[in-house]
Amino acid sequence: MALDDTDLAHLRRCVALAREALDDGDEPFGSVLVDAAGEVRFEDRNRVKGGDHTRHPELAIARWSAAHLAPAERAAATVYTSGEHCPMCAAAHGWVGLGRVVYAVSAARLSAWREEWGLPPGAVRPLPIGEVAPGVPVDGPAAELEAEMRELHHRSVATGP
Ligand code: ZN
Repeated sequence: MALDDTDLAHLRRCVALAREALDDGDEPFGSVLVDAAGEVRFEDRNRVKGGDHTRHPELAIARWSAAHLAPAERAAATVYTSGEHCPMCAAAHGWVGLGRVVYAVSAARLSAWREEWGLPPGAVRPLPIGEVAPGVPVDGPAAELEAEMRELHHRSVATGP
């Protein structure tokens, strides 16, 4: 499915959350959960600066959904995110039965940027969501948002954790 203006609007909110996270000393990732009626139900951003590197917004969304939404509501919901889910978050998304994912920047692109900037690979391999949760419909990237996300990630690694 191609991205429409509604998708882009939600992705722009994810980018704003990513910027907020970075400005607060966390890593630049943000995510939004939207239900079948188009309502934003939950949003979060990366919160790893305290040392818990599982504090990803997509994992928070999966856990919130399991606690607050019926299975059918989860399946009909869409998760928007500034950067494609890592394998941990893709697994959580799959386990709780959430629906479509729309990302601004792919995990492969983010890895390529890290390599370009001379950084070592991360602790977890950047698999595509479909390799971890094959039943999930996935859309992205959003070329319109790539430059801004690249700038945020570059600032993140330049200032360091
Ligand atoms: Zn993650």
